[in-house]
Amino acid sequence: MVNVNGNYLKLRGSYLFSEIGKRVREYSAANPDKKVIRLGIGDVTRPLVPAVIDALHAAVDEMGAEETFRGYAPDLGYEFLRDTISRCDYKAKGCPIEPDEIFVSDGAKSDSGNIQEIFGVNNRIAVCDPVYPVYVDTNVMAGRTGVFDEAKGLWSNVVYMPCTAENGFAPELPKETPELIYLCFPNNPTGAAITKDKLQEWVDYANKVGAVIIYDAAYEAYITESNVPHSIYECEGARECAIELHSFSKNAGFTGLRLGYTVIPKDLKREGVMLHSLWARRHGTKYNGAPYIVQRAGEAVYSELGQAQVREQVAYYMRNASYILDGLKSAGFTVSGGVNAPYIWMKTPDGLSSWEFFDHLLSAANVVGTPGVGFGPSGEGYFRLTAFGRFEDTVEAVERIKKL
Ligand code: PLP
Repeated sequence: MVNVNGNYLKLRGSYLFSEIGKRVREYSAANPDKKVIRLGIGDVTRPLVPAVIDALHAAVDEMGAEETFRGYAPDLGYEFLRDTISRCDYKAKGCPIEPDEIFVSDGAKSDSGNIQEIFGVNNRIAVCDPVYPVYVDTNVMAGRTGVFDEAKGLWSNVVYMPCTAENGFAPELPKETPELIYLCFPNNPTGAAITKDKLQEWVDYANKVGAVIIYDAAYEAYITESNVPHSIYECEGARECAIELHSFSKNAGFTGLRLGYTVIPKDLKREGVMLHSLWARRHGTKYNGAPYIVQRAGEAVYSELGQAQVREQVAYYMRNASYILDGLKSAGFTVSGGVNAPYIWMKTPDGLSSWEFFDHLLSAANVVGTPGVGFGPSGEGYFRLTAFGRFEDTVEAVERIKKL
């Protein structure tokens, strides 16, 4: 008799986005004349930039010619891309990360979900509340969590670190000591950033207690403030305690192409074992790399032209973010984020719950956002708006919300 992995049965359904979809469908069916604007999506909407398209075309042509055809990609990624990442994302910023400490992958979702596999099942995780759901869900699948408390919306055996208005949506050091600490800055869903000094405190803490930080830098390209670090390796001692995840999704529109990378410095050891070698073993066995043509497209992002074009795209989204932030502030709403991230975190007005505000916004303004409680209990009373829409739609949505 085959047993299924019972941990999967503990998982909660993907309630948040299916519930949003259901409510929007019902509303649109009952009100077919209403134009609904979505400010809830986490996916990008601008097309790939010309420098990337040209690199894709050239790589496709190479794959069609006998002399330049490529078969299996190297397990850890092509050297041309790892060298470029090391030079542009790290050494240019004063971080000593070598090409062979970079693992090219098919995106930060896979890596943020898979990285827990190299750690023992008894390690306790710490996560921000609210949080990108992949970190907790994949630890549930692995059996690292206890039971889910429906009333509180929390798993046992997980250290939750509330991110609230009081702490500026950056968590305090936990009172109970975890082994694995997931941090994501700039943050999804709150849009909050962390200063370099504050992140240094986390690195010092992790080194003191022997914890490992898994640092998700998926939104790094959106940073505008100079005291916000682009990489955890800007902090002293991070090579001994931190793994960093990157994505090409939000900086260059690769959500459909799929490309990311993970950094594991060779100095990061636990029980005398280099975590680098465990992750290399995993990549070699359960390959989740990216195709040659996609890696060439990733390389093109770093060219002078590529950089100019992707920066313009990020600026497009950030113009939306500023418009939402300024517009809602001027209308008297309490909003944060949107300065170093494409997400705006809005306090629901009049003490409405996240879902009550969702329904109100949908029916009164025909605007869709994401209820904050869907990312964790500390998100109750908050609402996430995203900057990934078209500028014209964003303007219209903000004008409608202002009239609420
Ligand atoms: N990490 C965070 C915090 C995210 O919000 C997302 C996507 O929304 C990802 C990772 C996924 O990145 P990728 O598209 O590279 O898988």
